[in-house]
Amino acid sequence: MEHFFIASLPPVSPDDVRAAVRAWASEHWDPDLTLVAWRRLLVASGWAAPSWPERWHGRGLPAWSDEAANGELIAAGAVGAPVGSGMWLAAPTIVAHGPDATRERYLEPTLTGEQTWCQLFSEPGAGSDLAGLTTTAELDGDEWVVNGQKVWNTSAHHADLGMLMARTDWSASKHRGLTYFVLPMHQAGVEVRPLRQMNNHSSFNEVFLTDARIPRDAVVGEVGDGWRAALTTLAFERRFGGMARPSYASGPSRVLAEARREADEHFATYRWYPQRAGRADLVVERAHAARVDDDPVIRQEIARLLSMQSVSRWTADRARAALTLGRTPGPEGSIGKLAASLVAKQAAHVHSMIAGADGMLTGPDSPLGGVIAEVLVSVPAVSIAGGTDEIQRNILGEKALGLPREPGPGREVPFRDLPRNGI
Ligand SMILES: Cc1cc2nc3c(=O)[nH]c(=O)nc-3n(C[C@H](O)[C@H](O)[C@H](O)COP(=O)(O)OP(=O)(O)OC[C@H]3O[C@@H](n4cnc5c(N)ncnc54)[C@H](O)[C@@H]3O)c2cc1C
Repeated sequence: MEHFFIASLPPVSPDDVRAAVRAWASEHWDPDLTLVAWRRLLVASGWAAPSWPERWHGRGLPAWSDEAANGELIAAGAVGAPVGSGMWLAAPTIVAHGPDATRERYLEPTLTGEQTWCQLFSEPGAGSDLAGLTTTAELDGDEWVVNGQKVWNTSAHHADLGMLMARTDWSASKHRGLTYFVLPMHQAGVEVRPLRQMNNHSSFNEVFLTDARIPRDAVVGEVGDGWRAALTTLAFERRFGGMARPSYASGPSRVLAEARREADEHFATYRWYPQRAGRADLVVERAHAARVDDDPVIRQEIARLLSMQSVSRWTADRARAALTLGRTPGPEGSIGKLAASLVAKQAAHVHSMIAGADGMLTGPDSPLGGVIAEVLVSVPAVSIAGGTDEIQRNILGEKALGLPREPGPGREVPFRDLPRNGI
């Protein structure tokens, strides 16, 4: 992995970045362009992802500069880089691990929004134990042929490309025989079947791969070394604190209209995500409205929730400050992920105390038109997605506290000889 992000950094501050972006936007913003044409200009300027290396469309600035530049573009009434797992997970992994052919082919269309992504990691028998996956890729001339099944794949129903983890060597040890591929989704060998969730949304899918084809060189990192690249994707996923819809300026503009359509399509999949975070913002108002704000037990639980939320925000601020100073953050990713889950569960608990049995109702007469019911059935997702609470605790125990590793079979045993699914 190339450590682009901690190269020696020029002395710049967020204010410097914002001023430079403002100046660039005032000279170049053209509301009559197409969205793709505008983003190509932006990519050429290095302001679409300034933390990336100069050779790969960036400016070699610190990690915080992406958010600063994007915020300034929106404040100037313009449009920044697209949102989605391509920008947050796939592209930074490709920047870090290459190879150059993959960087050349996929980084620019991801930055312009021409190609969107989904993550094809989990399988029915391999979630927490991701390295136990059995989807297999075999080389056939100039192509890899892939067979297997993935599951819980958010946005796979409208993605162009998949970040696919597959086993390429069953005689290597569990973590060594894996390869990270870029899978073209629109082909006969890829069947995407949407799943219906208990909150009635349908944001993730099963993906069946039957003789799916991948060009020989469409890999991230090296063949057989996919685990290292996957760890980078998972680290970005833990660090990623949530997604806010960009507040684009109103008014007639071709770029803005296309950007709003892009955001509408993207956020349709995620419209339940505020509820899965617990909607702690609603509890005080709900306690007043339900006239339970003088109940000492409810007051105590609300105070506990708001304290947990503040502590969690300070941890996120510490991680951001470390990035601003050019330092690599420590275990804040796992702590933040775990804290978000605990806050969401506590918020759901408080909402249940306030609403009582009515919290189970949905429809126009129910608390907040069904929002509270949606909170209660959506919150469990936070402690599973992106690595469960137990897995975050294992990571913290092993990596931050230096506790002994979890017991398991020797790391050198060939994968085909390992017991699987309790067999
Ligand atoms: C909203 C949402 C979106 C998702 N999006 C995607 C996506 O886009 N792409 C994708 O590939 N996947 C996605 N996932 C899947 C997610 O990554 C997995 O669900 C997660 O890794 C857990 O795997 P599992 O469901 O197989 O549970 P399991 O691994 O079977 O775990 C079951 C239980 O056992 C516990 N457990 C397992 N191993 C250990 C251990 N070693 N120590 C202690 N406890 C353990 C777990 O904590 C859990 O409580 C998504 C999941 C959700 C909920």
